[in-house]
Amino acid sequence: MNAADGILLGMFFATGAVVGSFANVCIHRLPRGASVVHPGSRCPVCEAPIAFYDNVPLVSWLVLGGRCRRCHAPIGVRYPLVEMLVALLFLAAGLLYGPTLVAASAALLGAGCVILAATDLEARTLPDEVTFGTLVLGLVLAALRDRAAAASGQGFAQSFARSHLLEALLGALLGALFLEGVRRAYAKLRGQEGMGGGDVKMLAMAGAFTGPAGVFLTLFFASLAGTAVAGGAALARALRWSIEARRARVSSSSAHAVAARAGLLVSEDGRVLAASARFREIPGAAADGTRLTANARAAGRLLAFVRLARARARRGVRSASGRLALDDGADFFRVLAARAEATPAGLLVLLARADVPFGVFLACGAIGAFVAGRSAWEVLAAGVPWVPRLFP
Ligand SMILES: [Zn+2]
Repeated sequence: MNAADGILLGMFFATGAVVGSFANVCIHRLPRGASVVHPGSRCPVCEAPIAFYDNVPLVSWLVLGGRCRRCHAPIGVRYPLVEMLVALLFLAAGLLYGPTLVAASAALLGAGCVILAATDLEARTLPDEVTFGTLVLGLVLAALRDRAAAASGQGFAQSFARSHLLEALLGALLGALFLEGVRRAYAKLRGQEGMGGGDVKMLAMAGAFTGPAGVFLTLFFASLAGTAVAGGAALARALRWSIEARRARVSSSSAHAVAARAGLLVSEDGRVLAASARFREIPGAAADGTRLTANARAAGRLLAFVRLARARARRGVRSASGRLALDDGADFFRVLAARAEATPAGLLVLLARADVPFGVFLACGAIGAFVAGRSAWEVLAAGVPWVPRLFP
């Protein structure tokens, strides 16, 4: 690598950090229905405007020690993480594709996916501004690639239908139609929403970058990511819970401490002795010292699990739940997993979130399809001569 390459890659990284900073604004404001341009950056706690020198991506968070300069409220670690992630994705785009329109597409898709994964995790929403905005920019970039290819008199040969724009349009259309079909079929069969309309728009967005074949590869990579993430999360949870349960058996006070951190402690006569934020955030959750209750609609499954676990604990049996969906029909929605066993202080119920929203997997899938699409497609479709040409 020579100096010019180094400077170029440095510029990819720095641009990514700045875009990552803007991504943080989108992640915070779009789910709240606020404008991303006005007003300027503010501390969400004390509302003080953030000076430009305190708003340098990555650097400022470290300099300020992760706190607001004025009110010293902690600034979430999400901010530098998002900036770093987007900067690394831009750097990867520069390394893989050099200073080209393909690199611009890759970087843009990466930034869009990071924003969507974060809003889906935090607020369970995929804002239209991001899905549609990124989709439209993807089409614009595809059109620019066609123009560049026409100007240089080459480059058409690889593209399906000899036009990147047509391919992007077909990809977006196929993504939308395919997932909307799946969504409706699922809703009809199960009588409940399996995924939101945002997922459909997000797959259309991915299709605008990866083409029609890439739509299926996006779903394929998304399911791989889903299996890996869900499996890893379940394993980590089981490990953490056995450590917590062992600690809770030591003494009554340690059982209280574990419950306050990671779950719920219920006395012999059914009162809450200690509870963590995971329980307290449930609408209508009982206060300490009172009988275990909560909004019946939201927490019905959890309360039923605890009732069953209490009966089993009297016989010395430990209980583990499957996925407990908690839904109050309004804003509150969680999927929890729980494990319960008797301790000297009472019934210890360990609680953890068990839901990773689909948008996170789609984000991994779209990036995977963009990067590894052609080679993956050639492996999957080995021996079918016309198939590899479907990919850009
Ligand atoms: Zn502040």
